[in-house]
Amino acid sequence: MTETKEKTPRIYRCPSCSASVIYDVKNPNRPFCSSRCKDTDIIAWAKEGYKIEGKPPQNEDEFLELQKELELKDD
Ligand SMILES: [Zn+2]
Repeated sequence: MTETKEKTPRIYRCPSCSASVIYDVKNPNRPFCSSRCKDTDIIAWAKEGYKIEGKPPQNEDEFLELQKELELKDD
């Protein structure tokens, strides 16, 4: 449905290492640049409790919601 809008690649920052990442719906590591950053961030969550919403996501659904929020911030 959104495939007609793919003229300019969208760049965003990896929330873990701040590397520039090209937005790709097929990237399984979104919003991170790599599976390593994704894993690192989840570990950080578990260790110190992420401060985005005051509490870490309890399940994958919540995590995906946070991913969406991070992507929207780039707008
Ligand atoms: Zn990264």
